[in-house]
Amino acid sequence: MPKDRIIKVAVPCPLYRTFDYRLPETVFNQAVEAGMRVRVPFGRQKLIGFILEEHRQSELPEDKLRAITTVLDPQSLISHEIMELVRWAARYYVHPLGDALQTALPVYLRSNEDASAPQIRSWHLPEQAATAASIEETRDDTLEKTLATLKRAPRQAEVYRLLAKAPHGLNEQALNERCDNWRPAVRALLQKKLITQQYRPVVLEPLTEKSQPPPLNPEQTDAIEAIARQQDEHAVHVLSGITGSGKTEVYLALCEKVLAQGRQVLILVPEIGLTPQLTQRFRQRLDAPLVVLHSGMSDRERYAAWHAAASGQARLLIGTRSSIFTPMPEPGLIIVDEEHDGSYKQQDGFRYNARDLAIVRARNNQIPVLLGSATPSLETLNNINEQRYQVHHLRQRANKKPLPKIRLLNLCSLQLYEGMASSLLDRIRIHLKQQGQVLLFINRRGFSPLLMCHDCGWSSQCQRCDAHMTYHKRHNELRCHHCGAQRPAPQNCENCGSDSVLAIGAGTERIEQFLQQYFPDTRVSRIDRDSTRAKGSLQEKLEQAHSGESGILVGTQMLAKGHDFPNLTLVCILDTDQALFSADFRAAEHLAQLITQVSGRAGRAEKPGEVLIQTHHPEHPLLQLLLHEGYEAFARAALEERKTAGLPPARHLALLRCESVDTQAAQAFLQQVVDLAETIEHPDIDLFGPLPAPMERRAGRYRYQLMLQSDQRKKLHPFLSWLAPQLQQMKSARKVRWSLDVDPYDTF
Ligand code: ADP
Ligand code: ZN
Ligand code: ZN
Repeated sequence: MPKDRIIKVAVPCPLYRTFDYRLPETVFNQAVEAGMRVRVPFGRQKLIGFILEEHRQSELPEDKLRAITTVLDPQSLISHEIMELVRWAARYYVHPLGDALQTALPVYLRSNEDASAPQIRSWHLPEQAATAASIEETRDDTLEKTLATLKRAPRQAEVYRLLAKAPHGLNEQALNERCDNWRPAVRALLQKKLITQQYRPVVLEPLTEKSQPPPLNPEQTDAIEAIARQQDEHAVHVLSGITGSGKTEVYLALCEKVLAQGRQVLILVPEIGLTPQLTQRFRQRLDAPLVVLHSGMSDRERYAAWHAAASGQARLLIGTRSSIFTPMPEPGLIIVDEEHDGSYKQQDGFRYNARDLAIVRARNNQIPVLLGSATPSLETLNNINEQRYQVHHLRQRANKKPLPKIRLLNLCSLQLYEGMASSLLDRIRIHLKQQGQVLLFINRRGFSPLLMCHDCGWSSQCQRCDAHMTYHKRHNELRCHHCGAQRPAPQNCENCGSDSVLAIGAGTERIEQFLQQYFPDTRVSRIDRDSTRAKGSLQEKLEQAHSGESGILVGTQMLAKGHDFPNLTLVCILDTDQALFSADFRAAEHLAQLITQVSGRAGRAEKPGEVLIQTHHPEHPLLQLLLHEGYEAFARAALEERKTAGLPPARHLALLRCESVDTQAAQAFLQQVVDLAETIEHPDIDLFGPLPAPMERRAGRYRYQLMLQSDQRKKLHPFLSWLAPQLQQMKSARKVRWSLDVDPYDTF
């Protein structure tokens, strides 16, 4: 009788260990390799785990070993390269390997046993199969006739109209974005033979109409040459240049070179809002099949795109954070656009940073990685200072827009109109008169951040959080932005019954309303999470902003990213002071990045832009530096401040967060961790805490944290790896939720 075959499996569970299983006789002759999925019994559940390796012997006696149920994949889904990366990341971020592997794979593979490439359906008007010329002639006619027959089926008419506008048809994702509950309508239209259905691959072919690159300036050429010279070795390059300085042109030129060598390129971008314009530009310029990956796609589509990159069919991959784990057989270059962006850091579960993993991945493959930004993060600047990264500056504005004038507007003792000074309103008027567009930023959605009783001082406190509930006037609701609680807004004070309940302070909704009354002839558009919740509304609003239909845009930071409004001439930042005095140690950095980023967007070729920053602290040294000497000078000073305060990137930080409904339990758990740490020597590692989180109570849970700091990663990481598995064994851990965050993005 042959000896049992034993495999080591990473099971997606919160435990810091792997599990041994037996291969049953049914698959005894099958070859297995690392990265294949297996279904395994786990406690009373059946889970999908990942084979790590086959080994001769288990520490468990043979009769204790359970057999796997099935091997799901004929070959490995996780390339050797990605396995290395995830193993590295699981160690670095001190996260259980099984869960890390599961996070790294497309969600589709968590429940679908069949890992062959899925087909993506799309729908079209029938004429669209014919030549383009005949469509134009017949379309209007047919459209009107058909729509007339759909009078009593408005959803079908809506879908039909959408498809008529889309020359290449629309797939599931596109319909999801544009229309609610479209499936029954599509079925009905198919039955009536008004539309047709096709299966199409997700790979986007290059556009046939190519655009020519502009003649590049010497700074661009220098950067391209320097990076291309080191194509076959690992180096981290930073491309530092304000918006419009031609960074994307540098990316395109490098991609062209790398593609010509028969290698693939991965381009990470922060948000989905960035992808449409960027994708278009890549397709117009490069002759390579491309896929995109972002959260707006269905699981199926994401998997199809992942598969195309992993099989080598797609040569370019543009994607958000999790794309860093997409296998590519022939990687030649990784680009991280807007490297300073916080969205690269996953904020729950497996808390990796995709920018940092891009560097690790490039190193493993001995290829270059390029970090681009108008406002490099302090981490990156620190690495440049320490000569770990090479920096290339683009100091001219390639698009020849003059740089905008930035001015501080001192609010002290001025009368304010919903938080705005009258001189600000005057500037808005002037810009509108000259056909300019105006953008106002305020990092606060809703109508007002709280309601307060004028008679007794009652305020709209959230019952589950140490925070106020925001008043949303349009829905006449109070909503807590921290726990999601919501209820109808009270007409009368909930304490004394008085009817003088005041809305205190202004958020986007109130500012929109005020400006619409103040400038009745101009269209005011609000872009925040509330106003763009409905399907297709973000797109619609961005289109209105683009076409110039909306003269004034009011929005949160959501609006700061990647959008290019051609007519934008005035940018106003309304709430600066909050950031200057925030408990979040990155708040000042974010503010400086926001100001610099939006400044790059203001102005037209023939007309310089203007940026107005409202503040009660115009003398603030960081603001002064930013305005008079620019982002680099600001960043130097901010970096010094971090050094003095012992914060990242000067020191390395990990955060052990803990929460519980029981006020004592979270503190008690963390105190035990401190006690446990005292049982071993840990030189050069400082523990601070347990400290209450900046918002101590949130969603009914009490939150505490322990900060672990060291000057040396070499010391901090082994300590964390020693600590984490023991936390799971602690009795006091049962009453709490805890998580370990290495290189946390914030301390909340
Ligand atoms: P960034 O990515 O830094 O914001 P882009 O690469 O998008 O900058 O360039 C901004 C605009 O300037 C684009 O329209 C681009 O085609 C144009 N551009 C870039 N480089 C040059 C150049 N050397 N000469 C003329 N136009 C350029
Ligand atoms: Zn009252
Ligand atoms: Zn709440």
